[in-house]
Amino acid sequence: MLEIRPICENCGKDLPPDSTEAMICTFECTFCADCVNNVLHNVCPNCGGGLEKRPVRPGVLLKKYPAETEKLLKTVNLKSFAVLRDKNKHIEPSDR
Ligand SMILES: [Zn+2]
Ligand SMILES: [Zn+2]
Repeated sequence: MLEIRPICENCGKDLPPDSTEAMICTFECTFCADCVNNVLHNVCPNCGGGLEKRPVRPGVLLKKYPAETEKLLKTVNLKSFAVLRDKNKHIEPSDR
């Protein structure tokens, strides 16, 4: 079950459970679409995998299985991330 984290890990933007901008990797590292497209180039800075749109949990189930509230902010160090990003950004996530 997804934690549904509340903010973008890189820029801190609010990503409520019904957000259509939230993107996640397979480990559920969570970023906004803006960061994924313009900063990360679809490379997760933690695992190197691709990111996909986070599904929205139906409201009635969100009450029973609430979203995570703890905010995890870990702004990407662009200098050290550049190596991982440039190695992966031209490779489809399914081929990484
Ligand atoms: Zn962001
Ligand atoms: Zn990841």
